[in-house]
Amino acid sequence: MKLLKVYDILLSTSGPQNWWPMDGGFSPKEWEVCIGAILTQNTSWNNVKKALDNLKKENIVSLEKTLGTNEKKIAELIRPSGYYNQKAKKLKGFAEFVKTFGNVNNFLKNIERDQLLKVNGIGPETADSILLYAAGKASFVIDAYTKRIFSRMGMTGKEIGYEELRKFFEQNLPRDSRIYNEYHALIVDLGKKVCKPKPLCEKCPLGRKCKKII
Ligand code: SF4
Repeated sequence: MKLLKVYDILLSTSGPQNWWPMDGGFSPKEWEVCIGAILTQNTSWNNVKKALDNLKKENIVSLEKTLGTNEKKIAELIRPSGYYNQKAKKLKGFAEFVKTFGNVNNFLKNIERDQLLKVNGIGPETADSILLYAAGKASFVIDAYTKRIFSRMGMTGKEIGYEELRKFFEQNLPRDSRIYNEYHALIVDLGKKVCKPKPLCEKCPLGRKCKKII
């Protein structure tokens, strides 16, 4: 089955997901996406929300405020997201990197994937999330749900690596950040609700097209 067909089925059955999930209060608003993309490493979104709320309560909502707050204080505030000492270090390092562009908007306009991947603590999934959901660039985000669903469908191998799977999506879809944005969100929705570790195939909109290699 074609990737675009899968996308059409998921979009028509689940509807637009309106990603990235933002509560607002950060300046610029894309800064919340950048911070959230780092905080969400190895934890659930509920925990990220608590950490973001703590940052908002202390008004640490901008690049300048992140730069001006010491690492220990940031670590305390983001404690709910887990690995908080490591993540505070990553946030500070990332903020220093963004500062080299002058401001967040310049960073988002000019950043390239290779540069982002060189920043300490920014792996491919985090980099692609920032590129796609904060900068609006066409960089497909891969995660564990993507690997699980598309290997079960028989469209990719189980052991496929991040870059190979990203290329598979990017080479088989129109290069359109709006499609990438919606598609990743729809994959996450399906992975959370239906194609779980124990899949609910009888409820799955892809059921008739899926090879169910489980
Ligand atoms: S039919 Fe089953 S295995 Fe295939 S994508 Fe749906 S839930 Fe996953």
